[in-house]
Amino acid sequence: MSAYNSDIVTSDLSRFGYRELKMAAELLAAYCDNPPNFLSDGLTVMLNMHSGYVFLSDEDFNVGMMNGKTLEQYHSCPECGSEGFAEELNESDCCRAYIADFLKD
Ligand SMILES: [Zn+2]
Repeated sequence: MSAYNSDIVTSDLSRFGYRELKMAAELLAAYCDNPPNFLSDGLTVMLNMHSGYVFLSDEDFNVGMMNGKTLEQYHSCPECGSEGFAEELNESDCCRAYIADFLKD
Protein backbone atom coordinates (compact mmCIF):
# COMPACT_ATOMS: atom_id res chain seq x y z
CA MET A 1 0.00 0.00 0.00
CA SER A 2 1.45 3.35 -1.00
CA ALA A 3 1.28 6.36 1.29
CA TYR A 4 0.26 8.42 -1.72
CA ASN A 5 -3.05 6.91 -2.70
CA SER A 6 -5.00 10.17 -2.96
CA ASP A 7 -8.28 8.62 -1.79
CA ILE A 8 -6.86 7.77 1.58
CA VAL A 9 -4.32 10.52 2.19
CA THR A 10 -5.34 14.02 3.24
CA SER A 11 -3.69 17.18 4.53
CA ASP A 12 -7.08 18.61 5.57
CA LEU A 13 -6.70 19.04 9.34
CA SER A 14 -10.47 19.04 9.83
CA ARG A 15 -10.41 15.38 8.84
CA PHE A 16 -7.82 14.50 11.47
CA GLY A 17 -9.15 13.15 14.78
CA TYR A 18 -7.78 14.51 18.06
CA ARG A 19 -5.36 11.62 18.32
CA GLU A 20 -4.07 12.36 14.81
CA LEU A 21 -3.82 16.10 15.55
CA LYS A 22 -1.68 15.32 18.58
CA MET A 23 0.55 13.16 16.39
CA ALA A 24 0.78 16.06 13.93
CA ALA A 25 1.75 18.39 16.81
CA GLU A 26 4.39 15.91 17.94
CA LEU A 27 5.82 15.74 14.41
CA LEU A 28 5.95 19.52 14.12
CA ALA A 29 7.58 19.86 17.55
CA ALA A 30 10.21 17.28 16.57
CA TYR A 31 10.69 19.08 13.26
CA CYS A 32 11.34 22.39 15.09
CA ASP A 33 13.69 20.82 17.63
CA ASN A 34 15.84 19.27 14.97
CA PRO A 35 14.91 20.12 11.34
CA PRO A 36 15.67 17.02 9.26
CA ASN A 37 17.65 17.42 6.07
CA PHE A 38 15.56 14.93 4.09
CA LEU A 39 12.50 17.20 3.97
CA SER A 40 12.48 20.35 1.87
CA ASP A 41 10.05 22.44 -0.17
CA GLY A 42 6.33 21.78 -0.28
CA LEU A 43 6.18 20.46 3.28
CA THR A 44 2.78 19.25 4.47
CA VAL A 45 1.36 17.27 7.36
CA MET A 46 -0.53 14.30 5.99
CA LEU A 47 -2.88 11.70 7.39
CA ASN A 48 -3.30 8.27 5.88
CA MET A 49 -6.95 7.65 6.73
CA HIS A 50 -6.59 3.94 6.13
CA SER A 51 -3.61 3.24 8.38
CA GLY A 52 -4.03 6.20 10.76
CA TYR A 53 -0.42 7.18 10.09
CA VAL A 54 0.36 10.87 10.38
CA PHE A 55 3.50 11.99 8.58
CA LEU A 56 5.34 14.92 7.08
CA SER A 57 5.97 14.89 3.38
CA ASP A 58 7.50 17.23 0.83
CA GLU A 59 6.96 17.77 -2.86
CA ASP A 60 9.54 15.11 -3.69
CA PHE A 61 7.49 12.54 -1.74
CA ASN A 62 10.04 12.23 1.05
CA VAL A 63 8.26 11.09 4.19
CA GLY A 64 9.09 11.67 7.85
CA MET A 65 7.35 9.89 10.69
CA MET A 66 7.85 9.45 14.41
CA ASN A 67 9.94 6.40 15.23
CA GLY A 68 9.37 6.36 18.97
CA LYS A 69 10.41 9.86 20.05
CA THR A 70 12.45 10.65 16.96
CA LEU A 71 11.40 12.11 13.63
CA GLU A 72 12.91 9.79 11.03
CA GLN A 73 12.74 9.28 7.32
CA TYR A 74 10.24 6.64 6.29
CA HIS A 75 11.56 4.90 3.22
CA SER A 76 10.02 3.03 0.40
CA CYS A 77 12.23 0.71 -1.56
CA PRO A 78 12.28 1.79 -5.23
CA GLU A 79 12.65 -1.84 -6.30
CA CYS A 80 10.01 -3.80 -4.36
CA GLY A 81 7.95 -1.03 -2.77
CA SER A 82 8.51 -2.19 0.81
CA GLU A 83 8.05 0.63 3.31
CA GLY A 84 9.65 1.26 6.68
CA PHE A 85 12.29 3.02 8.71
CA ALA A 86 15.90 2.29 7.77
CA GLU A 87 16.25 -0.33 10.51
CA GLU A 88 13.14 -2.18 9.26
CA LEU A 89 14.07 -2.45 5.60
CA ASN A 90 16.36 -5.44 5.94
CA GLU A 91 14.24 -8.30 4.60
CA SER A 92 15.48 -8.45 1.04
CA ASP A 93 18.64 -7.68 -0.89
CA CYS A 94 17.10 -4.80 -2.86
CA CYS A 95 16.01 -3.04 0.37
CA ARG A 96 19.35 -3.59 2.08
CA ALA A 97 21.16 -2.20 -0.98
CA TYR A 98 18.85 0.84 -1.10
CA ILE A 99 19.35 1.61 2.62
CA ALA A 100 23.12 1.07 2.42
CA ASP A 101 23.19 3.54 -0.46
CA PHE A 102 21.03 6.00 1.47
CA LEU A 103 23.19 5.82 4.62
CA LYS A 104 26.32 6.37 2.55
CA ASP A 105 25.46 10.04 1.79
ZN1 LIG B 1 13.18 -3.85 -1.68
